[in-house]
Amino acid sequence: MTPVLVLLGLCLTVVTLCYLAWCAVSPWGTCLRCAPGGKNRTCRACKGTGMRPRLGWQVWTYLTRFHRDGTR
Ligand SMILES: [Zn+2]
Repeated sequence: MTPVLVLLGLCLTVVTLCYLAWCAVSPWGTCLRCAPGGKNRTCRACKGTGMRPRLGWQVWTYLTRFHRDGTR
């Protein structure tokens, strides 16, 4: 059973790394709230820009801010 678990862990690692790389390459994704109908100036989620930071990018920003505040 061990090789299966190793393969599973390897797949998860690869997927996570790919997602992180994707977040680093394009941290801005399209807004899910107003993307189907195009830009919506009154959209509060993206403030009318039609672009939103990806979840991974938000986590990264949170962590770096947390680290910076903690080491100050
Ligand atoms: Zn929006």
